Amino acid sequence: MSQRVTVVGGGLAGSEAAWQLATRGFDVELHEMRPLTTTPAHKTDRLAELVCSNTFKSTELTNAHGLLKAEMRLLGSLILEAADTARVAAGSALAVDRDVFSSAVTERIAAERRIKVVRDEVTSIAAPTVIATGPLTSDKLAESIRARLGVGALAFYDAIAPIVSRESIDDSLVFRGSRYGKETMEGADEDGAYLNCPMSRQQYDAFLDALISADQYHGHEFDVVPYFEGCMPVEVMAKRGRDTLRFGPLKPVGLRDPRTGHDAYAVVQLRQEDRGGRMWNLVGFQTRLRIPEQQRVLKLIPGLAAAEFLRYGSIHRNSYLNSPAALSAHLAAPDDPTILFAGQITGVEGYTESSATGLLAGINLARILSGDDPVIPPPTTMIGALYRYMREADPKHFQPMNANFGLLDDLSERVRDKKKKREMFAERALREMQSWIEVNGIHGALAVRT
Ligand SMILES: Cc1cc2nc3c(=O)[nH]c(=O)nc-3n(C[C@H](O)[C@H](O)[C@H](O)COP(=O)(O)OP(=O)(O)OC[C@H]3O[C@@H](n4cnc5c(N)ncnc54)[C@H](O)[C@@H]3O)c2cc1C
Repeated sequence: MSQRVTVVGGGLAGSEAAWQLATRGFDVELHEMRPLTTTPAHKTDRLAELVCSNTFKSTELTNAHGLLKAEMRLLGSLILEAADTARVAAGSALAVDRDVFSSAVTERIAAERRIKVVRDEVTSIAAPTVIATGPLTSDKLAESIRARLGVGALAFYDAIAPIVSRESIDDSLVFRGSRYGKETMEGADEDGAYLNCPMSRQQYDAFLDALISADQYHGHEFDVVPYFEGCMPVEVMAKRGRDTLRFGPLKPVGLRDPRTGHDAYAVVQLRQEDRGGRMWNLVGFQTRLRIPEQQRVLKLIPGLAAAEFLRYGSIHRNSYLNSPAALSAHLAAPDDPTILFAGQITGVEGYTESSATGLLAGINLARILSGDDPVIPPPTTMIGALYRYMREADPKHFQPMNANFGLLDDLSERVRDKKKKREMFAERALREMQSWIEVNGIHGALAVRT
């Protein structure tokens, strides 16, 4: 008799994990609390319900989400197969009819004899398991997770600042340095850890006017976040007074511009986000501005006129683990490799990213229970690079992350043309994913069934 495993949460990640386990011969109990207990965002009792937009984003390989999906297809993703059957016209994006999509997932899971769907709220952790309860994990289970992994391990809100790519920052307008020359970061550049964007009074005034009048996302009622001083949206701070930002995150003191020898009127600081120095975070810029408004307003910051945004800012209700501090490399409890986490709760952001971690969690739990080691694709692939981020990001500043090209290992050669560079990233990622699959004997679950 095959071993029984539990998957908690019948969302995108949980459905994918259960499927991967079942198609590898394991009997799975998939626990979903809806409709008995519901979340503030879900509306149906279906598995893999899409709570907001109906798109899995681009399918183009020169887009980070397109590449992620291509990798998931090599691994036999149930979620993408269901999305294909529910696809609606949306250009190069994979958009779906949400009801057809979640019905397709629900039906495929119901028809799989090795998966038993149990409708109940799980309140404690029992190995072997994949916990995939998402951004709205129920309170009782959240308490058990905190008891198991440490009180500080699980956050309930995110306050995400935008990230821009290093190569899109205009070096002629920014300077390196740390406040008063004091370094707070290990291994920082000898001139200082931060990139500083100095503003004149005129530039600050224009920026402030744009920020104050920009259109913001109001979100769902339950999503109204109690703002703490440490995670106040930058636009809310700006509205408190014309100097509030200059005395807050944009304070210029201790940051003398070496080119002028003077302190600027205000300074926006960028902090390195990844080890390779390709991703830079706008310090203190957590925001609820709509995405086109973030593009418009933040490009007024000197040095960022041509900024490429790898992640946009947001503030949400979101239960997520501080994965670099609380989990192992394959996103399991540090003291038990058979308690795995998947989906948005691990600190990835988005439908596709969540599904991808569910896929890998299912593969890895199956491997561990079969006596093999867990495996993670190389960081030249989008899935591998996301896992690396969740392992190696600075736990002090850890915020959820979406797929983007800044996460990948650099190419061995310098390529100036952006499209060409992305084509090369994608070609390398798919080649290396394919060879990783072969080396580790991982066959796409959908292929195994036929
Ligand atoms: C309001 C809102 C809007 C969003 N909009 C978007 C968007 O437009 N695009 C995007 O890409 N991402 C969006 N996200 C993020 C999105 O939630 C995730 O990308 C995705 O749904 C995460 O998948 P998941 O499987 O981790 O979690 P979910 O899809 O949320 O699945 C988790 C499941 O676990 C169940 N569950 C929770 N606790 C328990 C328990 N104790 N026992 C049993 N079952 C439990 C829940 O009922 C749920 O079905 C949004 C999130 C929210 C909250």
